[in-house]
Amino acid sequence: MTLNGHKPNFRRAIDLVTELMALPGKSGQEGRVANYITEKLQAAGVPRAMIRRDAANRRTPVRGDTGNLVFVLPGNIQGPRRLLMAHMDTVPICVGSSPVRRSGFIVSSNSQRALGADDRAGCAVVLNSALEILERGLPHPPVTFCWTIQEEIGLHGARHLNHAILRKPKRAFNWDGGSWEKLTVGATGGYRMAIKIRGIASHAGGAPERGVSAIAIASLAIAELVRGGWHGQICKGSKRGTSNVGSFHGGETTNVVSDDVELKAEARSHDPQFRKRILKEIEKAFVRAAGQIKNNSGQSGSVDFDGRLDYEAFQLQKDDPSVLAAEQAVVKTGGQPVRAVANGGLDANWMVARGIPTVSLGCGQINQHMTGEALDIENFKSACRIGLFLATQAKL
Ligand SMILES: [Zn+2]
Repeated sequence: MTLNGHKPNFRRAIDLVTELMALPGKSGQEGRVANYITEKLQAAGVPRAMIRRDAANRRTPVRGDTGNLVFVLPGNIQGPRRLLMAHMDTVPICVGSSPVRRSGFIVSSNSQRALGADDRAGCAVVLNSALEILERGLPHPPVTFCWTIQEEIGLHGARHLNHAILRKPKRAFNWDGGSWEKLTVGATGGYRMAIKIRGIASHAGGAPERGVSAIAIASLAIAELVRGGWHGQICKGSKRGTSNVGSFHGGETTNVVSDDVELKAEARSHDPQFRKRILKEIEKAFVRAAGQIKNNSGQSGSVDFDGRLDYEAFQLQKDDPSVLAAEQAVVKTGGQPVRAVANGGLDANWMVARGIPTVSLGCGQINQHMTGEALDIENFKSACRIGLFLATQAKL
């Protein structure tokens, strides 16, 4: 079947995604990916001046080699401006991916590497939609195409995206992981913190009683969080969230009572109030643990928290026009749309926070961030149909 009379060139779409997945480009090193997309657009006749990069990479913690890439296409028919977007970076395990086709899937022939379909498949859906319009001269309302940087390390590209160059889209669609029928209409907010624990160093054999072990403080606190149900999956009455101490560094040698531990932890919940409660419980556990360990002169260690909100939770309205448009596109492609809420951040979190309600769609990625990552080709083709439909349909 065709959508709106337009059927994408699937062979070309698969070539694009295969080439994109083979390009190394972890967060902060998306330059080659941005160049590839730029060259394809130029080859389709887009003047270089219409393809812009913002300066987001100068404001992100990792100073990347490119900013977000934006191509603004004026319309030749009436209709609300729509934004099609996807992130260009992959997690580091994807660097060195060598995509090959295996029956209905694309996988990495290098089994030590993940494929990178997250999110080069999204990049390909957005790029393919642009190329179809340009090469075939399809009628289209105003469209903004955007490829973001540094999604995987904390949504930094979307956070620092220069919204002035997007030209105020009224509908917004973001392709990221998962099935083509899945529409992500909400996501948790996330908070990360560094926890610094200072103890008192002392000789572990000669005078252990004079020391205060930072490792013991950290361990007691984590044990208390686990026992109290505040670590990992958290269910308290009707409230839900997650927390994780994801890194633990400290100590040098066995003969010194360790005086310095640094932990990195995170907390997530759809409910900002509950997320704050989780953070409070984490802080309380560490402060209490620090008070429990004293040396022979009654001295104790100290704990310091340094945290920040990575992104706020969001939930789109039930009748949000972008959600309804995406549902319409899935139905027209022969699928059954499923609304979902993500347990992690998406570029959409920052788009929504900046006033652009954005629905996220999958494009066939399976087992993202793992060596077994695969791209389901039929699924990806459906996503390409949807991309072209959303880019060209006047009424959305
Ligand atoms: Zn992703």
